[in-house]
Amino acid sequence: MDIIHLLPDSVANQIAAGEVIQRPASCLKELVENSLDAGASRIQVIVRDAGRTLLQVIDDGSGMSETDARMAFERHATSKISKAQDLFALRTMGFRGEALASICAVAQVEVMTRRKEDEVGTLLEIHGSEVIRQEPCQCPVGTNIKVKNLFFNVPVRRKFLKTDQTELRNLLTEFYHIVLVYPKVQFTFVHNDEVLLELPAGTEKQRIEAIFGKSGSKTYTGQFVDVATDTELVSIRGFIGKPEAASKNAQQYFFVNGRYMRHPYFHKAIMTAYSGMLAGETNPSYFIYFDVAPETIDVNIHPTKTEIKFQDEQMIFQILMAAVRESLGKFNLTPSLDFNREGEVEMPTDHGANTAKPHVVFDPNYNPFTHSPKPSVQGWEKLYSPRTTSHEQQPPTNDTLSPSFQLSTFTSHLPADLTPYKYNKYLLLPTASGLMLVHYRRAHIKVLYEQYYKQMTLGKGVSQQLLFPEVIDLSPDDIVLLDSIIDELRIVGFDIDQFSKTAYSVSGIPATLNDQNAQTALLNILLAVRETGASATDNWRKQIALSLAKDTAIPVSKNLTDEEAKQLLDQLFALPDYRLTPDGKTICVLLSDDDLARKFT
Ligand code: ADP
Ligand code: MG
Repeated sequence: MDIIHLLPDSVANQIAAGEVIQRPASCLKELVENSLDAGASRIQVIVRDAGRTLLQVIDDGSGMSETDARMAFERHATSKISKAQDLFALRTMGFRGEALASICAVAQVEVMTRRKEDEVGTLLEIHGSEVIRQEPCQCPVGTNIKVKNLFFNVPVRRKFLKTDQTELRNLLTEFYHIVLVYPKVQFTFVHNDEVLLELPAGTEKQRIEAIFGKSGSKTYTGQFVDVATDTELVSIRGFIGKPEAASKNAQQYFFVNGRYMRHPYFHKAIMTAYSGMLAGETNPSYFIYFDVAPETIDVNIHPTKTEIKFQDEQMIFQILMAAVRESLGKFNLTPSLDFNREGEVEMPTDHGANTAKPHVVFDPNYNPFTHSPKPSVQGWEKLYSPRTTSHEQQPPTNDTLSPSFQLSTFTSHLPADLTPYKYNKYLLLPTASGLMLVHYRRAHIKVLYEQYYKQMTLGKGVSQQLLFPEVIDLSPDDIVLLDSIIDELRIVGFDIDQFSKTAYSVSGIPATLNDQNAQTALLNILLAVRETGASATDNWRKQIALSLAKDTAIPVSKNLTDEEAKQLLDQLFALPDYRLTPDGKTICVLLSDDDLARKFT
């Protein structure tokens, strides 16, 4: 029996705006979800050139009849829903019946598919929606679909693709979102003939280990504890990282009913449960699987379906927070900062959470010229020694220097006759111990960040009034977010007021912004605060400072004058830690004489 039918227009129109294939990753997602919907137990993904030239998905699922294979590529052709009500009770991944139609419109597609009850399969070739070939073929049960030369007929889209590295990362991110909820399905991911992931069928924990565990080290999942709670409203299962295993790039995943989702609000619930347990800028990893009655969520509010609206968000927030707290308490996870012991068997300790709170010392007077934790840049103070004059005496190596001493000794960091050479995104500086390369946009971000942050802590942002106040429409959750950080925004120079239920008016902006980028800058701040889930004033300030710094820093395309370059370096080297941006990116690299000598062997 053929099982695909066309959706009536009325239903089609109720479905949120088009499933657009923006990039290889969105295409991969659709193909793999189709394989899962077809009940596959083994799925192979084969990619070439980050999906630009080939995206192939081979499954051992149900396969399609000859008619279905042809129908599958029509818009709103789906075997998965037939009436509007079905939209609210979704259990399958795809449902719009648009993916294949969209894909075949912008690529050269070749499918081979066979159902188990059919002797022969069907081969179908479609280029830019046009059927080129359809014939019977010999093939295994299941579907083998090749999407070649994505966007071959849409040059603009092709141009917007990022580097292969970025697109491959996007592909893998999308792939993780799926494979983490289907541990019982076997997956392989091959890129340019190299097997990047081989994931045997197993449990969720084994799947997490297979993806994120690094061979050789102690088990990754050993750093997690279980979370489990069952209520009428929701069942929550999963794993949360022990506080001491928290890191800067934590893996944080939410899934609902077998589907990946982003949920900033629930993220906050988790972060609240951890509060007081995390060191510095670190974040806990978590993999949380929610199960709710399908009719209590709306998966259809976002075109890429990663944002999901729950009926009882506040209740679930409470349930989640309590469950995480309980797990953290039950396993007696008194945090320790002894990272070398991570993964070892957790010994119960008898001190309370308070006494064991990680003690993070931030030394505002830290001076890079006196010591550096990074060996490669060690001995900084000697960098300019051949040129320095006698008043720039060598700093004593005593770590308990008085701040004023450090400041007065090292206010000027560059010799007067030094002109940095500009190459590409970098400034090159000859130094006594080697060649220093400075990424100048990052250097500028760092310098600006420190300025904005200082302004905020001192409460002294400089504002400029706009000639015409701007009204910015915001979504309800952005309004809530903006409301919570409004004091910080005002301090940094935004003159901002609620205008209506859904909009804010901006009549003044930080003096460093211009009115063209004011709105973007504000939205970027909201995005940054939301993404990091920052919840304390100080974290908000850091996010706001960083976001503004990124929006106002010189672009890498700008040509710096010698004077600007020198000023920038001078400001940079005056900072406590000039080597890394606030988000951990490298600002300068020192190629020592030894490094160079090694290259000339
Ligand atoms: P949707 O998944 O939203 O239904 P698609 O355009 O992704 O829409 O797919 C259209 C139809 O093609 C599906 O409903 C399904 O019946 C069929 N199909 C697509 N991929 C496969 C596959 N790998 N195996 C079996 N059937 C498939
Ligand atoms: Mg689909």
